[in-house]
Amino acid sequence: MLIDTHAHLTDPGYGEAREIIDNMQNDNLDKIITVAYDVASSYKCVEIAKNNPNIYATVGVHPSDACRMEQGFDPIPDLAKLVSHPKVVALGEIGLDYHYDDDKNVQKHWLDAQLSLLGNTDLPVSFHIRDAYEDTFDIVKAHKADIKNGGVLHCYSGSYEYAKQYLDMGFYVSFSGSVTFKNSVRAPEIIRKLPKDRLLIETDCPYLTPVPFRGKRNEPKYVTYQAQKIAEILGIGYKEAEELTRQNAYTLFKKMKRD
Ligand SMILES: [Zn+2]
Repeated sequence: MLIDTHAHLTDPGYGEAREIIDNMQNDNLDKIITVAYDVASSYKCVEIAKNNPNIYATVGVHPSDACRMEQGFDPIPDLAKLVSHPKVVALGEIGLDYHYDDDKNVQKHWLDAQLSLLGNTDLPVSFHIRDAYEDTFDIVKAHKADIKNGGVLHCYSGSYEYAKQYLDMGFYVSFSGSVTFKNSVRAPEIIRKLPKDRLLIETDCPYLTPVPFRGKRNEPKYVTYQAQKIAEILGIGYKEAEELTRQNAYTLFKKMKRD
């Protein structure tokens, strides 16, 4: 079965995500990790996970959302409370995103503050990094002692060299539907170089719908296309790719129960 390690079930387009969750068995989905991007979605993700055994949650503030927070608002007390919930498997998605015009100093401030939360937990971290690999790594290095259980570079789009720095710190690398796009030339090369036991797959739904459904709304079940692509790139069977990425997810997200 498959695990979608990065989905946004709180997206308003899914309503209560009832249909997605009720069809998981039929869709060959073992678990879904629903990922937060601000304080409100952190509470919502925990609520969904609490009510559904096969759903797990992350809590955290995305760098772009950090820039949209009301001035003077501090998300840390809420996050500090939520990280210890039994269904919260990672801190995230947090990071730096320089693709848009969001204030870099605000982003750095909240990345730093959120990584400090890891000091009191054993959670891994889910990183959203876009066009900001060097600055992120500077902050990560300063928090080396806090990051005890590595994490994941979600929807990876950087070079092998950058990924390598993170591998050495126990990180995993996750690929979304963008690996199925025709213009995705770099990903296959990186996937071949990465250790097999550090590969993860995700949808990042409702964004990044894979081929052959581009233009339609993305859903967790489409993570099967990422597994297929990884099998093709690595020259292994589909079932093997499914099992490999599933076991890797359980190894990284230790609070997620195998059943
Ligand atoms: Zn995301």
